[in-house]
Amino acid sequence: MSLIVQKFGGSSVADAEKLFNVAGRITDTYKEGNSVVVVVSAQGDTTDDLIEKAAEINENASKREMDMLLSTGEQITISLLAMAIEKLGYPVISLTGWQVGMKTDSHYSEARIHKVDAERIRMELDKKRIVIVAGFQGINKYDDITTLGRGGSDTTAVALAAALKADLCEIYTDVDGVYTADPRIVKDARKLEEVSYDEMLELASLGANVLHNRSVEMAKKYNVNMSVRSSFSKVEGTKVMEVVKMEKMLVKGVARDNDVARIALVGLVDTPGIAFKVFSVLAKGNINVDIILQSIGRDNTKDISFTVAEKHLEKALEILNDNKEAIGFAEIKHTDNVSKVSIVGSGMVNNPGVAATMFEALFEAGINIKMISTSEIKVSVLIDEKDSERAVSVIHDKFFKNM
Ligand code: ASP
Ligand code: MG
Repeated sequence: MSLIVQKFGGSSVADAEKLFNVAGRITDTYKEGNSVVVVVSAQGDTTDDLIEKAAEINENASKREMDMLLSTGEQITISLLAMAIEKLGYPVISLTGWQVGMKTDSHYSEARIHKVDAERIRMELDKKRIVIVAGFQGINKYDDITTLGRGGSDTTAVALAAALKADLCEIYTDVDGVYTADPRIVKDARKLEEVSYDEMLELASLGANVLHNRSVEMAKKYNVNMSVRSSFSKVEGTKVMEVVKMEKMLVKGVARDNDVARIALVGLVDTPGIAFKVFSVLAKGNINVDIILQSIGRDNTKDISFTVAEKHLEKALEILNDNKEAIGFAEIKHTDNVSKVSIVGSGMVNNPGVAATMFEALFEAGINIKMISTSEIKVSVLIDEKDSERAVSVIHDKFFKNM
């Protein structure tokens, strides 16, 4: 007998038939004698539809009101799913983020979880009920509703698993696990049996859209046993855990992120403190900077280029232009027609030549690299967006074809 947290994403609960499919999976687990806590997302495209609805009224709606609106999507799902389980004849109760004590900070639309009370859930589990919790939402110290950022229901599930010391946190989705590359791009991408928290965290942050990266961060911190699997089949999914079997796979996956823009500051004076000025004004504006490259320019000047998320491009340009005098650059250039393609794997720490192999694949395909960045367990390159799918394919071939 275990305590299991199961999370079902929007595509798994999109209509009545799918809700009953999910209800069946849940009650099967319950019948085996387990305590079951379920977290669900909004149905299908509900969240996107709500965002569109808001834009019809006010393009600049406050984030507080956006959270008030978006949190309703999940509330629909929890009640409908509870009704489906009632109909199957099992004891069940649905609860909102507020009712389960999901306490967050006040960063509306991107709130972080501070603490989970979970008292109410324990009480309901003691009564042998299946507990259905609304994902993605929490409550701040003003008793206002917050949301955890797009895809945040994964994080709700892991936070509950950690607070309840659950034996397992299963993330059910429309794919049957974590793959070596996006199967829509690479036909022979393979499903991974296991992936470490660190690798998964990199993959999630570098554009693999399987898990909310905060959920992986939290799973690592509280050592939550996590698995990613399909709502529509019984096949084993991918386990996300601390240590994974030593295997010959140097690289675990190839990820792509198109949500990248590049900014270049040209003709900066070559004196100490310039990089400090550039990146501190950006930091004050809450702009996250990713890959940074400094190079020598003409006549004792230097150039600094860096990448930001596409949605931050305009604000970053505005901040830099506002500080043009103070920073002292000649020209500013930018483009959003770039993509970041990355390889991830803890095996590369002790194995030279992994980056070279990646660059060789790109060279053979005639794809030009604009920027490079590396860490212990990843290598990322910035390339033209139009080359990005081809890049993922040739890199994947290079590492996985003869395995
Ligand atoms: N419904 C929210 C979204 O679409 C949260 C989630 O699905 O995890 O982003
Ligand atoms: Mg998701």
